[in-house]
Amino acid sequence: METKYIFVTGGVVSSLGKGIATSSIGLLLKSYGLKVTLQKIDPYINVDPGTMNPYQHGEVFVTEDGAECDLDLGHYERFLNNSLGRENNITTGQIYYSVISRERRGEYLGKTVQVIPHITDEIKSRIKQLASKNNIDVVITEIGGTVGDIEGQPFLEAARQMRLDYGKENTLYIHLTLVPFIKAAREFKTKPTQHSVRKLREMGIQPDILLCRSDSWLTSDERQKISLFCNVPINAVIDAVDVECIYEIPLIFRQQKLDQMILKELQIEKQDPDLTEWELFVQKAKSPSKVTEIAICGKYVELRDAYKSIIEALSHAAVANDARLKMKWIDTDRIEDEIALENALGMVNGILVPGGFGMRGVEGKVRIVKYAREMNKPFLGICLGLQCLVIEYARNVCGMKGANSTEFDDETAYPVIDLLPEQKKITNMGGTMRLGNWPCRLEARSLARKIYAKDIIEERHRHRYEVNPKYIKALTSKGLVFSGKSPKGKLMEIAEIPNHPFYIGTQFHPEFTSRPLAPNPIFYHFIKSSLEII
Ligand code: GLN
Repeated sequence: METKYIFVTGGVVSSLGKGIATSSIGLLLKSYGLKVTLQKIDPYINVDPGTMNPYQHGEVFVTEDGAECDLDLGHYERFLNNSLGRENNITTGQIYYSVISRERRGEYLGKTVQVIPHITDEIKSRIKQLASKNNIDVVITEIGGTVGDIEGQPFLEAARQMRLDYGKENTLYIHLTLVPFIKAAREFKTKPTQHSVRKLREMGIQPDILLCRSDSWLTSDERQKISLFCNVPINAVIDAVDVECIYEIPLIFRQQKLDQMILKELQIEKQDPDLTEWELFVQKAKSPSKVTEIAICGKYVELRDAYKSIIEALSHAAVANDARLKMKWIDTDRIEDEIALENALGMVNGILVPGGFGMRGVEGKVRIVKYAREMNKPFLGICLGLQCLVIEYARNVCGMKGANSTEFDDETAYPVIDLLPEQKKITNMGGTMRLGNWPCRLEARSLARKIYAKDIIEERHRHRYEVNPKYIKALTSKGLVFSGKSPKGKLMEIAEIPNHPFYIGTQFHPEFTSRPLAPNPIFYHFIKSSLEII
């Protein structure tokens, strides 16, 4: 089968859920046995989001090959139940970086280097390469931003050219737009959609299918109107209605026959999709019989997107445990004394301290870790969360007064967390942390070994600091167990303590590998133990 290229664009406003829509289409096509991959284009100049503040960008998702990516890659992996890689996320920065490097090497042979064709050729070649390298049937490319953005134009132009290159039967344009309900007039308004489709047409792209985000179902009159003004057949006006669970969206699309329409347009002859497992998951997610409340204690808590994969991993684990997840967001900057601690954490069933960078909120996290240890509350510390666990143990159990990470205090008498040796000479900030999959050997008879039921695991990393080898003896002699280590035993990957219902910290990020149909084992057992202490 010839490779098919689908482009997903967005109109009117951002945050309409283009990533979820793209992932849902991916899942629907995969359910027909097609080999599908998803690709995100981010039109900003940064080479990747790794150097951006979470307030700017939300979570940085890490792939197994160590790329720091847009958080939509997380949705892609969760819906497709596949791991993706570096090539699945393109930015303007990467495109210009390679075109300019080629120009400096003299490879354009004296030509003037221009947006069209050189930049657009580079964009197209990255889309095509992704397909050919992995023998893909359908590539779905999501173009970030909103039509009309100046920085998105070269990508839309490249998408337009793809139809010229491969023909109508091999390319498809899907546009996600907003159809707001105006309360005063008691009507849906289709004008913003008309305008955004017009903007897309100015770029030479007539959408084949419209996904209309709305807070309740559109009537056939409204769909008729959108169809007429936007020049799209009425059955291609699909309602992307708000739902309580994002994992329901593929089913909402299928109900409106979006999958069959895509297959027909792209002349793909496939039948009998299988979504049984997915349907079962959604059903379970919607009617749990238990409840658990988990405190998420970080410093970016006003921006939930900063913890996207953690939220999803917790909810996958909750569904698998037949529980509804309640999340309590704790700003660690505000945890200054015992009263604040008790108010924040007294009633929750589990405590999670996620990753983070910089000093703000760290002392609050250390207090929280101590509380979880002493009060026997199920606790999961991730990356910086593990580092805080070690700092707390050093200070309060091993008597190392003022123990700290050199990230926060480079004059501490007890630098129990320090830069990785290979990090000491690094000056460039972008893409230079310890990133991606690294193997970890689990100790026999530990909680970690019981959780994973394996001797060697691989999980994804993103950090510069680690447990300082100089203090391992002192920490372990007082009862801290390093139950996961790099295969040669040099790097401490997991710490836990015995005689506690559940108390574990990981240097890696288990949230990145959790999927609805395959929850991450650490999250699964964390939620399980939170239910046991209720
Ligand atoms: N700031 C810490 C480090 O660089 C932790 C990083 C994280 O939590 N992702 O090691």
